Amino acid sequence: MSKAEIGLIGLGVMGSNLALNIAEKGYPVAVYNRTSSRTGAFFENAGALRENIVPCTSLEELVAQIKPPRPIILMVQAGKAVDEQIEGLRDLLAKNDIIIDAGNANFRDTIRRFEELEGSGLTFIGMGVSGGEEGARHGPSIMVGGKEDAYRRVEPILTAIAARFEDEACSAWLGEGGAGHFVKTIHNGIEYADMQMIAEIYGVLRDGFGMPAAEIGKIFEGWNKGRLNSYLVEITAAVLAAADPKSGKPIVDMILDRAGQKGTGRWAAIEAQMMGVPATAIESAVAARSLSAEKTIREAAAAAYGPAVAPSGKAPDAAFIDDLELALFAGKVAAYAQGFAVMEEASSEFKWNLPMATIARIWRAGCIIRSQFLSTLAQSFEADPDAENLLLIDHFVGQMQEAQPSLRRIVAHAALAGQPAPALSAALGYFDSFRQARGTANLIQAQRDFFGAHGFERIDEDGAHHGPWGSGLAG
Ligand code: NAP
Repeated sequence: MSKAEIGLIGLGVMGSNLALNIAEKGYPVAVYNRTSSRTGAFFENAGALRENIVPCTSLEELVAQIKPPRPIILMVQAGKAVDEQIEGLRDLLAKNDIIIDAGNANFRDTIRRFEELEGSGLTFIGMGVSGGEEGARHGPSIMVGGKEDAYRRVEPILTAIAARFEDEACSAWLGEGGAGHFVKTIHNGIEYADMQMIAEIYGVLRDGFGMPAAEIGKIFEGWNKGRLNSYLVEITAAVLAAADPKSGKPIVDMILDRAGQKGTGRWAAIEAQMMGVPATAIESAVAARSLSAEKTIREAAAAAYGPAVAPSGKAPDAAFIDDLELALFAGKVAAYAQGFAVMEEASSEFKWNLPMATIARIWRAGCIIRSQFLSTLAQSFEADPDAENLLLIDHFVGQMQEAQPSLRRIVAHAALAGQPAPALSAALGYFDSFRQARGTANLIQAQRDFFGAHGFERIDEDGAHHGPWGSGLAG
């Protein structure tokens, strides 16, 4: 067989599936994994695709098996492992070879790696890949950061393996340096918010009405045919319908209420804070996962405070179910508005010129947050590329006018019933603060001036001013 056209290091969940995807699209791929037994097992199980796979037991062999200039994908654990692999490859590679970090890197690490490789003759790409195992195998959403000409060199392979929405590949060059990994981070932050808000709506039905999982699943199934049509709503319906083979009960009732997280949602919240952009729905979703992990403390608090309001015993009426659907939709719009606002700020801070419509387009298939909503979002950004915030785009103004009363009613309902809805509440708080032309920060400014002589602006005069507080009260 002729030499491979691309290399891939790291045959874990993502790497092995991505390698099969590459091989299936007709690109011979050389693969290497730190633990070589995994490479052997992977090759054994690759079936007919073996003819496009070259298993290697060392980095030297991997490099020798790829046609120069060599693109090599790293799909290893993010962090130290990536630095180690780059270090191992550095002396083996030649000018113009391309190292592509396809893991969930922190974009600040990606920027550092670009700097470290500068002048080496090697090209670096930071590439976000979304879609989990299934996406990696059959078509992920691919978010690329680095030099545009480097992307163009690997574009044929990336577009071949990417998900497709209608006729368009869900892969794009988004900007230089850490742009791809940054966009992937925000994607994951939005994913956290989407998932949390879905879970909050589930909680309202489960705890407020004692509704069985399968019935809640049917409601999500219905919503998936409307404006909430999305992968996450679809799988929520499937999850809620599934029975536990051991107990015969709904599987979701047998799963411990302690959520894991690997850090990308947290990074999204941290970056939003660093840039001074409110991303409260994302932050609440991250915080909710953290609090979910504190099972023992929550049990102690439940014993101390007693249960919240008991289930009503009544079935929710159709108007309430419609309110839930619209509340979830309004929360989603606010969360996406926040995520895109963070990207807008990062784009100007890092001079990436992020193409917002393209980002929405490449998220329409392959990734976890894929949805019908993203098509509307892409069209809206295309029509109004300079929109400062999603909530100011005409289409979404209309949608929010319709949906926000429902969000208000559901958040109020949950609050009165003692049911947690932190992400939906945060979305509503953001929306209400965002649309308030005269907020309450005048009082904050007065307080700051009172205790710290920070000064304030007046509504009727230019310049810095101080209040008539005197000096005696400041502590
Ligand atoms: P995984 O199944 O745990 O596999 C990890 C891979 O990294 C293995 O091949 C492992 O090799 C290798 N590795 C770990 N430490 C290493 C080191 N120090 N040196 C060399 N190789 C090392 O992980 P995964 O789920 O495929 O994730 C890979 C990357 O994709 C991560 O950055 C992850 O965040 C990202 N990602 C994952 C998903 C997902 O849904 N799983 C989705 C998008 C992105 P050994 O076999 O030798 O241990």
